[in-house]
Amino acid sequence: MIILTSFYTFHLHNGSCCYLFHILQQTIWLFFRDMIKGMLIAIVIGPPIVAAVIVMMQKGSPYLAIYLWGFILVLSLVMMTIYPVLIAPLFNKFTPLPEGTLREKIEKLAASLKFPLKKLFVVDGSTRSTHSNAYMYGFFKNKRIVLYDTLIQQYKNDDEVVAVIAHELGHWKLNHTLYGFVLFQVLTLLQFGGYTLVRNSSDLFRSFGFDTQPVLIGLIIFQYTVIPIQHLVSFGLNLVSRSFEFQADAFAKKLGYAAELRAALVKLQEENLSAMNTDPWYSAYHYSHPPLVERLAAIDKSDKKEK
Ligand SMILES: [Zn+2]
Repeated sequence: MIILTSFYTFHLHNGSCCYLFHILQQTIWLFFRDMIKGMLIAIVIGPPIVAAVIVMMQKGSPYLAIYLWGFILVLSLVMMTIYPVLIAPLFNKFTPLPEGTLREKIEKLAASLKFPLKKLFVVDGSTRSTHSNAYMYGFFKNKRIVLYDTLIQQYKNDDEVVAVIAHELGHWKLNHTLYGFVLFQVLTLLQFGGYTLVRNSSDLFRSFGFDTQPVLIGLIIFQYTVIPIQHLVSFGLNLVSRSFEFQADAFAKKLGYAAELRAALVKLQEENLSAMNTDPWYSAYHYSHPPLVERLAAIDKSDKKEK
């Protein structure tokens, strides 16, 4: 489950968010309203999921790991389908991007890459924080792009917004989303596989002070014992994620957006208040996105190569 949560933050841009600042930007009312909504959703969808997991574990088939993995696979596909449609609108307002040059440019870019863009939304991110961003979602031929209103407000220049989209579309064109999903499935299967190997070990329970062996406690204890491995896994995931970022930047550059992407990245950095030039060892371990200086250097470097 730790891996589960790390997956959901896997591709959140500029994840190094300053939480306190984030809260300050929200009105107290909005903060509590979001919290209550979040709790209600957890109350509705949490118990059936936990119940299903417990039932599967109690049955204890030799293929338990496969069943649990299959369950999580189906669950994540269902969540990916219903989250943008049913859950995200509870927290934010999504409005179609009005007709205009920005819309035309994005549609033109999407068409030139054969990206099946079905809907183009603006989300009111500014009510909660000044973090600006863009993302896309949807299966197969039914894709949507969501732009944060902050992105449009901060980037007076349309082409900078389009450069950010070009980077995002690079992730799609280079199959990064798919690789991320497959990687997550493999990790989930390994995690459940590891759990099934030790779930009946009375030594494991006893060393944590349990004389009985409740299934859910077993799963929680197992997660504690694999924490050292989690560090290695998240290090590996960060390596992959960072190389994807460089690839997506290079993709946008190849489409001719080098200057705009440069400008956009600098602005994004200013607005998001994240560290600019971190120690490379520190960033290699902690960051899913390369620091600004490394990204700009990479954009310039490939410039020189082409000359
Ligand atoms: Zn990216």
